[in-house]
Amino acid sequence: MKVLVPVKRVVDYNVKVRVKSDNTGVDIANVKMSMNPFDEIAVEEAVRLKEKGVATEVIAVSCGVTQCQETLRTAMAIGADRAILVETDAELQPLAVAKLLNALVAKEQPGLIILGKQAIDDDANQTGQMLAALADLPQATFASKVEVAGDKVNVTREIDGGLETLSLSIPAVITTDLRLNEPRYVTLPNIMKAKKKPLEIVKPEDLGVDVSPRLKTLKVSEPPKRGAGIKVPDVATLVNKLKTEAKVI
Ligand code: AMP
Repeated sequence: MKVLVPVKRVVDYNVKVRVKSDNTGVDIANVKMSMNPFDEIAVEEAVRLKEKGVATEVIAVSCGVTQCQETLRTAMAIGADRAILVETDAELQPLAVAKLLNALVAKEQPGLIILGKQAIDDDANQTGQMLAALADLPQATFASKVEVAGDKVNVTREIDGGLETLSLSIPAVITTDLRLNEPRYVTLPNIMKAKKKPLEIVKPEDLGVDVSPRLKTLKVSEPPKRGAGIKVPDVATLVNKLKTEAKVI
């Protein structure tokens, strides 16, 4: 069984992003970029399935600019066997990515497609769901445990007030939640090995997909600045202020 893992190159989670002065987006010039953290968890899970002998091949896919090759090399250093870059300079929205992935699913016929539950840059939480719809595959989102049993995969999901376990027939789409696993550290020998693994480059046109945007961002703005705090003399004043000024109790 092949496992396809889509990985997105995003602004590193440690970077404090700044909104551009014209409010059209965030400034990503000279900013550290990394693999979306949920996608690292997805690669780790796929590699563990291979180590257990459940998966035969792990294929990482990224859609975007040439530099996404670095993200794919990281995926291969974690343990993916090969990679595909769908190269484009165009702005890619989740529907376009889902269409590109759908074309690759048709070509590669993976048993599982494991995506992150959301990309930390657009916070869309849409691509996995859209891919499942386009490919007409069952989906389990926000996975905290994945167990393959024959031609089924059992996926445990964290939901309000408890856990839900679903059984899906394979092929299926899964999206990862934070507690699914803790990705391994990438070692230098594995980084070196990853340099020699195959990385195929295709264009959206080769997959017959029109990636033009369907949504227009009207405005991006900073959250309101927090006001300065004050010191209150005693608990009674605090309670009074919480009641009458903050109106939270
Ligand atoms: P989103 O729907 O944008 O929040 O992204 C959810 C997941 O879809 C990510 O965690 C990735 O696994 C996948 N994904 C989104 N955009 C891309 C991309 N440009 N290339 C590869 N995978 C992507």
